[in-house]
Amino acid sequence: MTSLSIRGVTKRFTATPVLAGVDLEVPAKSITAILGPSGCGKTTLLRIIAGFTDPDTGTVLFGDRPVFGAGASVPAQQRRVGYVPQEGALFPHLDVAANVTFGLPRAERRDSGRVAELLSLVGLHEDLRRRFPHELSGGQQQRVALARALAPRPAVVLLDEPFSSLDAGLREGTGRAVTQALRTAGATAVLVTHDQGEALSLSDQVAVMRQGRLVQVAAPADVYGAPVDVGVATFVGGAVLLPARVDGDLAFCALGALPVSPGDAHGDAQILVRPEQLHLHSDSQSGGVPTRVVDVSYYGHDAAVRVDLLPSGPQVVARIIGAEVPALGSVVWVTTRGSAAVYDAATTPTVLVSEGPELS
Ligand code: ADP
Ligand code: MG
Repeated sequence: MTSLSIRGVTKRFTATPVLAGVDLEVPAKSITAILGPSGCGKTTLLRIIAGFTDPDTGTVLFGDRPVFGAGASVPAQQRRVGYVPQEGALFPHLDVAANVTFGLPRAERRDSGRVAELLSLVGLHEDLRRRFPHELSGGQQQRVALARALAPRPAVVLLDEPFSSLDAGLREGTGRAVTQALRTAGATAVLVTHDQGEALSLSDQVAVMRQGRLVQVAAPADVYGAPVDVGVATFVGGAVLLPARVDGDLAFCALGALPVSPGDAHGDAQILVRPEQLHLHSDSQSGGVPTRVVDVSYYGHDAAVRVDLLPSGPQVVARIIGAEVPALGSVVWVTTRGSAAVYDAATTPTVLVSEGPELS
């Protein structure tokens, strides 16, 4: 397996650029998720890596070897890329074994042990080999598609929203099985998704795409904990955004004085905390800011509780475990754990509160 480098890649189909200068390094044997809203250019980038589309400018390298740019233009079939689309990758008239065999190099096609090995790699039972695609669940179909993509031992595996057609129950298990198989195979993989949970939980590196640019490329915990801007912050999770005044390593805001990283900007700013950093308690002696509970969304494992800070707002949302939900209308105190992220002050001071990721 090889690393993948994308440098200065641009692409336009009409006057508006679809990719406006993309740089990305995917280390060998690692999984990078490209996360972004629909229409931001994810599939176009994947097709450029695969060689199905040529970029207007830029270079694509597999390891040290340019496959596009720097004088090279290696056709798709010679790039050794495995591609798993959203759905419908399998030949409907071929059974599982024949679909997987189709991906094998000619010399290995008679080796039924290799098909068994690939099915086992993606966590599918040998008994499924005579089934046809319509006799499989959506999740099983996607695993067969991955087995076929891995069959020729590709240099790079590209997956374009491979779980988005699956219902919620299947999505998580299939995602885990697929990434487990990629890791066992030692694959270098790029997984495109518009689902922040999928990106954060399945990858080693998340590349957040917005309007044809990668605005942040970092480990999942850094994208979530230290998003580069408010747009990324609200795209990847719930958010409480408040006007603040930053002085030294403290931000003074409606939630009190919150620690910030040294080196953050001083003066007027906006700060971000995640709803799960807010802790609600009913003991007036334990400190915190008094609030009134105005709304509760109960999810079982946890709950989103909207509270108005007393006496006159703003409203914030706390994400707390489901067993500790306070009564509507009751007065509770809010304390904040951990530190806040700091952003430039908005031109008009805004308060933004969201329970979960905002698709923009
Ligand atoms: P995503 O996969 O993030 O949803 P795409 O890469 O499919 O986004 O598309 C990005 C933009 O490029 C969209 O506005 C889409 O309409 C446009 N686009 C993609 N492919 C073509 C094409 N072959 N011709 C014209 N426009 C295209
Ligand atoms: Mg797409």
